[in-house]
Order: sequence, then C-alpha cells, then structure tokens
Amino acid sequence: MSEFALIDALRARTSVARRDVALGIGDDAALLAVPDGQQLVACTDTLVAGIHFLPDTAPEDLGWRALAVNLSDLAAMGAEPAWALLALTLPQALPRFIDRFAAGFAELARAHGVALVGGDTTQGPLAVTVTALGCVPPGRALTRRGAKAGDAVFVTGTLGDAVAALYGLRDGNFGSGRTTVAPALLTALNRPQPRLAAGLALRGIATACIDVSDGLLADLGHVCALSGVGAELDADALPVSAALAATFEHAACIDMALAGGDNYELCFTAPAARAAEVARVLAQVPGGVTHIGRIVAGSGVVARDAHGARVVTRSAGWEHFAR
Ligand code: ADP
Ligand code: MG
Repeated sequence: MSEFALIDALRARTSVARRDVALGIGDDAALLAVPDGQQLVACTDTLVAGIHFLPDTAPEDLGWRALAVNLSDLAAMGAEPAWALLALTLPQALPRFIDRFAAGFAELARAHGVALVGGDTTQGPLAVTVTALGCVPPGRALTRRGAKAGDAVFVTGTLGDAVAALYGLRDGNFGSGRTTVAPALLTALNRPQPRLAAGLALRGIATACIDVSDGLLADLGHVCALSGVGAELDADALPVSAALAATFEHAACIDMALAGGDNYELCFTAPAARAAEVARVLAQVPGGVTHIGRIVAGSGVVARDAHGARVVTRSAGWEHFAR
C-alpha cells in the first residue's frame, strides 16, 4: 500500500462532515473556522507500542484509544471537540491494519462529531500521535488550578478497571478464580469513554478538573499542587465497578482505584454547597458521578479508610522516566 493510498483510505473511512472545515486532508495544512468569540483548545498525546499499549492490541482498539485519550483531555478542559490530526508511524502499510485502525478511530470520532482534518504518515516502530482541537467560550474552561479548601472532590464513572485488565493481559494476574480477563474490564482498557458531556455540564460549576490518565492520587496531586491545596479521599467511597469487585479483594480494588492509570474519568472539585447541583447536572450523563473526598489547606493527597487510617498504595501512579 502506498503512502497516498493509505491516506486516502484513512480519509474515506473516517469522514465526518463539518461546515467549519474549510480545507481538510489533502493540502499542506487544514483550514478551520473557529467560531466567533470562542477559544481554541488544543492537546496532543502519543501512544507508543509496548509503552502505552500492549503490542498485540487490536487495531480497532488502538484507533479508538488514540483518539479517546485526547478527547479525554478536551473533556477535562470543558471543551467541545471539533477536529483531530493523526500522526501515524507504522512498521508496514498493511491495508487490513489501516482499515481496522480507521474503523475504531471513526467509531469514536463519529460519536462525538470530530472531523479528521490532517496528519502525517511515516515508517518506523508502531506509534500513534493524535492532536485534538476543540472550543470553549473565554473564561469557561476548566483548569487544574482553581481548587479551594472546603471544596468537595468528585470523580466520574468507576476507577481501577483498566489497570486490572492490564494486570491480567500483561502479568497473567486475573484475580481470584479467573483464567481470563472479565469482559467489562477489557472494555475499560480498550475502549475508554471520554467524559465530554460531563466536562461540558461542569462549566461554571467545577473549580478545577483533570482527567485520570496516570492514576487518581497522581492526577489529583497535580490539581492540588497547582491550586496550592491538599486533598483527603475516603477510600471506601471510591467508585469500583461490579466487575472489579467480583475479581479482586477489597484492598486490591482500592489500590487499583487510587493508583491505576488509563481510566480516563474526570476528577474535579466544586464548592461543597453545590454537591447536589453536581449530582443533578451529571445525573443524565454517561458514567455518573461519586463524591470521594474534600480539599483541605496544606498540600498532598491522602486516602483514609473508615477508621481514619491512611491507605498506602503499592505505587504512586504512572510517570515516564521514573525508573
Ligand atoms: P506534506 O508532505 O506536505 O506534509 P503529506 O504527504 O504528509 O504532506 O500529507 C498530505 C495530506 O495528507 C495532508 O493534508 C496531511 O494532513 C494528510 N495526512 C497525512 N497523513 C495523514 C494521516 N495519518 N491522517 C490524516 N491525514 C493525513
Ligand atoms: Mg507530512
């Protein structure tokens, strides 16, 4: 397959019509009409085989995931997604791989009306970089720096599922009595759902927001550091899926919920007096929401059990170049 046939195949399989795309794939760069009075929100994330995904990941799942991790960043900003660029590095241009990759990418892109407007294609070890672009009215973006002592801490969806799937696939640790990974856990790892509707609903309510890509303790730690506050989490309040609870003992579930990455839920803060409003605006969006703790004066994030004892996790979360 030639480079140009490959780009054509990607374009054909991922087409999403948007009137704000003045010029898409095919020229030296795309021309995009940013709506009047909006800020452009831009982010990019790379997935490298063997680092961010298992080398035998299905191409459909890789296509979905590469876009999902970026849309999750837009969600955490309270942005409305619009466009994406895709830089693909492939060992070989196999038509079957491209078809399947594009199908997974397109499934998520269509679900959120995101148009693929450009990218780059090179030969080399398998790696995928997506750049996602979206819009937000000035002053309405959710950032990491507004958390205040007294705020409540919330998280969407459930935590720990994706890392549990990874323990099974990568390490052969399937949990009690199992010889395979539970399907619900696999879905969490391979098809993360960017919480875009939640991010939009939280404009004007959340004081700070981040997506949980590296692990709750690590990511909430970033919010605390930038906001100049600390956080206390109630370990027993952490939302754990039925699939995870059925697979691992309670302490292991809590560990995965606190330290496991790849879940792409939103962790956010809001004034405690607005907790009922948070529950109301998120009642209708996918994933739901759980009140998991509070922001305090000071620094650092601690989780406590029902007796007030500090919960110590096996690892603090994912960090590149850490070892
Ligand atoms: P240039 O040499 O000017 O960088 P390319 O041949 O790399 O041009 O790309 C030609 C067109 O195809 C451009 O519009 C580019 O954005 C698009 N394109 C290249 N690779 C991809 C890809 N993986 N996904 C989407 N669009 C792509
Ligand atoms: Mg190029």
